[in-house]
Amino acid sequence: MLELVKLFFYGGVGGVIGGNQILLEDGSTRILLDYGLNYSLWRDYFEYVFAEPGNVKELEMVELIPHIEVLKGLDACFITHPHGDHYGMITTLPDENVQIYTGEVSHRIIDSKLKTRRKRKFEKVEHLEFKTVHSGYRVSIDSITVEFQAVDHSIPGSYSLIVETSSGSILYVGDFRTHGVFKPKTDVFKLALNRQVEAVICEGTNIGQLSSPLSEKDVENSMVRILSECNSLAIVDMSPGDVDRLRTVCKVASTLNRSIVVTKRHKAVLEALLGVEDLNVPEVGRDVLNYEDVDEKLRRKPSEYVLCTSFYNLREVVDLSPPPGSVYVLSSSEPFEEETFIAFKRLQNWLNLLGAEAYHIHSSGHAYPWELRRSLMTLRELTDLKLFPVHTEYPEAFKSMFKNFFNVIIPIRGACYTI
Ligand SMILES: [Zn+2]
Repeated sequence: MLELVKLFFYGGVGGVIGGNQILLEDGSTRILLDYGLNYSLWRDYFEYVFAEPGNVKELEMVELIPHIEVLKGLDACFITHPHGDHYGMITTLPDENVQIYTGEVSHRIIDSKLKTRRKRKFEKVEHLEFKTVHSGYRVSIDSITVEFQAVDHSIPGSYSLIVETSSGSILYVGDFRTHGVFKPKTDVFKLALNRQVEAVICEGTNIGQLSSPLSEKDVENSMVRILSECNSLAIVDMSPGDVDRLRTVCKVASTLNRSIVVTKRHKAVLEALLGVEDLNVPEVGRDVLNYEDVDEKLRRKPSEYVLCTSFYNLREVVDLSPPPGSVYVLSSSEPFEEETFIAFKRLQNWLNLLGAEAYHIHSSGHAYPWELRRSLMTLRELTDLKLFPVHTEYPEAFKSMFKNFFNVIIPIRGACYTI
């Protein structure tokens, strides 16, 4: 009898957004689909600088990674995109040569983060062998073939994976949306239908949430409206990897005749992506200015600039003491976790003290519920399809939405599911 393919979920399940870790076993071949960091679980047990983990065993104990024996003899690890909640634990992979397949852009961002970030003594990068791919590339490892298909998300270099195994194909969606600027050539859900997939592992970040379904164009229009009324410094708070958002802010700045200034974390990503074909990221020093170079001018003529930063870089904002009438735009997800919430609240206190206004203008990096519904309904004729919700706070709500169409299975950490 043919041996069934096994799936184990070690992260991204149990009502959490992020930290995806999925192990797939096809006979003796074993691959990982993402190996992310669950930030909220990390913060439940550790704290940056003062109470950092001392060894891999502690990460195992708090279930940030599976038992290290589980990953012995791993054949490869496939990373869908360069967000820490999808790749953040790769530095703790067992000490053997591990092949990591990811997109070229994704590799550049991960590499730049790994080089600049302080590493704890148990973290290693030397044994990680990165292999870069592009959309449509197929990687075969024994009985498994993994195909990368580009998707739109809030960071470039994002892919869905179609995994062909000896008991059928699986679509692992990764993180995606369909309302952004990037329009992939291939609709991965239609491709999955053509391939008659047996299972789909799908994100559900916006399921059960109160969505504000803005598009990137809506973000641009709202920013122009708000910032055209501002006669002082405009501060835009956004995720450093969100290149599409930075392009939107560039358009806004050009409409308003302002120059853009970026701080350290944004600069690092732009420099890592410089020269990537088709990506055309703004160049630091030419299209956008480096904060350290224009610090003084910014102080003298704040109304001529848009400062791109993040609330973690509180000091830069406070040091500048933006004059009253300055406007702060939060253009990323609302900080809902305790620690980010506190960091944000601290910045808000300073903004209030300085007499700055604050607005939230954002378009989600993830599919809104209607997009998930539309995408998954593409597969409606596959009535035996196993649908595994991951990367969601509300897996039960996900199940309620789709249980009439598919066999929705809410994965439990460490349990074995067969295909
Ligand atoms: Zn992501």
